[in-house]
Order: sequence, then structure tokens, then C-alpha cells
Amino acid sequence: MIIANTIEEVRAQVREWRKEGLTIGLVPTMGYLHEGHASLVDKAVTECDRVVASDFVNPTQFGPGEDLEAYPRDFERDCALLEAHGCDMVFHPEVDEMYPQGGGTTDTFIEILSEMPKQLCGVTRPIHFRGVCTVVGKLFNIVTPDKAFFGQKDAQQLAIIKHMVRDLNFGIEIIGCPIVREEDGLAISSRNTYLNPEERKAALTLSQSVKLAKDMVAGGERDSKTVLEAMRAHIEAEPLARIDYVSAVDGITMLPVSELSDGVLVAMAVYIGKTRLIDNFTVGE
Ligand code: AMP
Repeated sequence: MIIANTIEEVRAQVREWRKEGLTIGLVPTMGYLHEGHASLVDKAVTECDRVVASDFVNPTQFGPGEDLEAYPRDFERDCALLEAHGCDMVFHPEVDEMYPQGGGTTDTFIEILSEMPKQLCGVTRPIHFRGVCTVVGKLFNIVTPDKAFFGQKDAQQLAIIKHMVRDLNFGIEIIGCPIVREEDGLAISSRNTYLNPEERKAALTLSQSVKLAKDMVAGGERDSKTVLEAMRAHIEAEPLARIDYVSAVDGITMLPVSELSDGVLVAMAVYIGKTRLIDNFTVGE
């Protein structure tokens, strides 16, 4: 596996692959990789001739007081996982390589102006999706992939990236991949590492409330208020949990809906102690 630290190294390798007529898949990540990330690489390997993963903790998507500095990092372990899953190149730039202006920021952002990035996670993280769109747009320009792979775990991010690709004519196919969970149901996340054993148990309240809602929908309940109330009650019964949001939104616009028809995204963010975790499901999937 090639380790590239500079944009020029990535571009030179991509030019070689293009000369050979090979297709390229991109898996953007912030590192501290786990089986969720691995599932994206596995999918990319089946769909593309060459797979590039990026491993970069992107400063522009963290707000003040968030966990940018504390975000876990282990590049050596990441490389071992990527290589084992057949990744061909990892792009691991320094902050100044991605943000040449310095200070981990830029004057030029990609920002969706509709309600999409303001809903759900956007309420408490108002600059988050602007940072995500900007770094993903930059990665698309650097790697020029045919396809890019994102997890359904970050469902709002996935919807936003699809919207950005359409609006800016990136010409890249965006592939959403299912949430990978621990055996007990917890959605795997790099941030799970922040949880102490007691919090780790309490964190199950997220996946349990997803299951509760799925069962209600499967049983014919389509009123979002009824289902969301049941989910909230379940989560609130856990003393270590504090709800950021539990919402049902249109899967494309991210606007709230009252009926749980197919394609509706039921999503939540919940603090377990100081750790903010997310989970979701899409009705009918
Ligand atoms: P991150 O490194 O957390 O920014 O995530 C990088 C990519 O991996 C995003 O597209 C995430 O949605 C995806 N991802 C993270 N956790 C999971 C998971 N448990 N299952 C599936 N995809 C995931």
C-alpha cells in the first residue's frame, strides 16, 4: 500500500492509474479506523480497480469546544487495517498540506444554503457540514475518484454529500454503505473509545431505541410523534444519557415529517456522559 502525505504524490499516482484505464474509489475517513471504515474499503474494492482512503482529522468541521485535539489517532494501526482490506493508497496529509492558508482554515468553503445542514446535527454543530463539504470537495478534486463511499451511520452527511455532488457537478457516484454494529448493537464509532465501561453499557440505549422504533414501524405505527416519544422515553430512562435530538426527517431534504413513510430518516444524537454519539435508521430499508 502506498502512503502519500502530499497532494502531488496522490495526483502523480492517480495519473499513472488513469493511463492504465483503471477506475478509482475513494473512502474519506478521519482515521482511528474500525470495522465500519473497513466495510467501506471492502465495498470500494469490489467496485473499483484501485482504492484510495484518506486519513485526516479535518479541523474545519470541528466547532469551538469540540474534540479536535482529543480526537483519537493511530496511523500505524490504520495502515495495517487498510492494507489488510486491500486499500491501494492512503492519503495522510498534514493540516497545512490541506489548508495552505495556514491555521487549519481557509477563505474558500463549500456551503449548502438550504435547511439540510441546519437540521439534526446542524443545530448544535452549525459549522460542521460546511467543513465536511469543503474537505470532501477538496478530496474529490485531489483524488478525482469515479466513486466515493460513505457510511449510512452519518446519514445527514451522506445526504449532504449527494446534494453537493449534484449541485457542483462533481460527476462522482456516491455510494452509501450500511451501519456496522458491535455484537450488542452499538454502532461502531471512533468516539466509542471515549466511553468508560459504565458509559459503554449506557450507550446501548441508542441502538435499543432504534430497534424499538423499527419494531413499532414494522407493527404498523406510522405516526412520527408516537414513535419519537417512545424512543425519547427509552433513552431518558438511562441516567447517563442526555438527548441532543431524536427526529424524523425527509431522507433527502432533512426537514421534519409527521408520517413515517418509506425513505424517512429517524435519527438521533445522544450524549453519554461527555461523549456525543449518533445512530439512525431509514424507514423501509
Ligand atoms: P469518520 O472517520 O468517523 O469521519 O468516518 C468515515 C466514514 O466511515 C464515514 O463515511 C462514516 O459514515 C463511515 N462510518 C463510520 N462508522 C461507521 C459504521 N459503524 N458503519 C458504517 N460506516 C461507518
